[in-house]
Amino acid sequence: MICCARCGLEYPSDTKIWRCTCKGELEYQNQHKDNIPPPEGLALRPHSIWRYREVLPRLEDEDIVTLGEGCTPCVTAKWHGFPVWFKLDFLCPTGSYKDRGVSVMISHLKQMGVRSIVEDSSGNAGASVAAYAARAGMECTIFVPSDTSPAKLAQIRAYGAKIKAIDGTRQDVAEACQKAVEEDGSGETFYASHNWNPFFLEGMKTLAYEIWEECARSEMIPDWVVVPAGYGSCALGAYRGFLDLVNQGRLSQIPKLIIVQAENCAPIYHAYLRGEARVAPVRGTGTAAEGIACSNPIRGTEVLRAARKSDGLVMAVSEEEINSAAVKLAKDGIFVEPTSAVVGAALGRLIDSGVILENDIALGILTGIGLKAGTLTHSSGIF
Ligand SMILES: *Cc1c(COP(=O)(O)O)cnc(C)c1O
Ligand SMILES: [Zn+2]
Repeated sequence: MICCARCGLEYPSDTKIWRCTCKGELEYQNQHKDNIPPPEGLALRPHSIWRYREVLPRLEDEDIVTLGEGCTPCVTAKWHGFPVWFKLDFLCPTGSYKDRGVSVMISHLKQMGVRSIVEDSSGNAGASVAAYAARAGMECTIFVPSDTSPAKLAQIRAYGAKIKAIDGTRQDVAEACQKAVEEDGSGETFYASHNWNPFFLEGMKTLAYEIWEECARSEMIPDWVVVPAGYGSCALGAYRGFLDLVNQGRLSQIPKLIIVQAENCAPIYHAYLRGEARVAPVRGTGTAAEGIACSNPIRGTEVLRAARKSDGLVMAVSEEEINSAAVKLAKDGIFVEPTSAVVGAALGRLIDSGVILENDIALGILTGIGLKAGTLTHSSGIF
């Protein structure tokens, strides 16, 4: 069942709408959820997010569209003098964590019989949706900002998707895409927006399941989990996944979530700082962290609540901190895009200021590979 987060109206799971008639965002309520097996019960499962079938939306085997997403490694690093963990989620098949959510979203759309989709994206989600649509045999068009990095555009094109480049802000791109859906006379084209689609978020919960599965063996569940946030799918996915584990008795408590934004575009951070309950839109300026440059996050208030409920915090880091963290990670063999480097920047500041202590277990999620980052990275000469 699908339910509106704003007015509570209920819809069947195969509804063709992408938001409620009240314009509220939709949530998936999994009524078939079983208990997740203990780690030893998972050993022989597929090496992908689909090893957690009990807690994912119920789908027929033949509808599952997978490229082996998830099951990414965690490595240790010495960061500002302290040992920390980094989860290399940029090793997902299209080079970003988005594959987790997209695999679930596209599988669900395949089950619904959808043949043609559109999506708007700053790059990585578009590349991911294009890849999984190709695998599912769906027609796909991606709306992108006209300054999207050339490598991301080449990747989207390579998968066979059409590209519509839009001048303007990220919001303008989303609106152009939504207008195209409304004007599609056939009504056959589905708005497969990773930011609106509730099945995408279900896939993102696997971040938490994996961290738990890997850490439970060594009884090293992290005290802190650090994620970047634009629209906040990593943050909300991790929070809700950990909550599932607590509710199913697999974890005693949720790790403290550190949710990181770029100072130049930080609506969730501003609401957090002022102690407000709701996130209001901001007027963002440019940031090298192009993947989190979102001035009006759809589920921003939920993300803010997740930070508070986990006893964690929201931070904003400067362009200087982002650049120097990207360089520092690369010098340790880890090449990520600036959007991911915000996690390193936040960890650095929290270690330097004594919030994270030497014996704490801190894990940062590195979401996007450095190879296809924006012109900002290449031309700024930080590497
Ligand atoms: C999309 C993206 C993010 C941010 O995800 P949100 O859901 O917008 O918070 C972070 N890192 C990378 C590499 C991304 O592509
Ligand atoms: Zn509603």
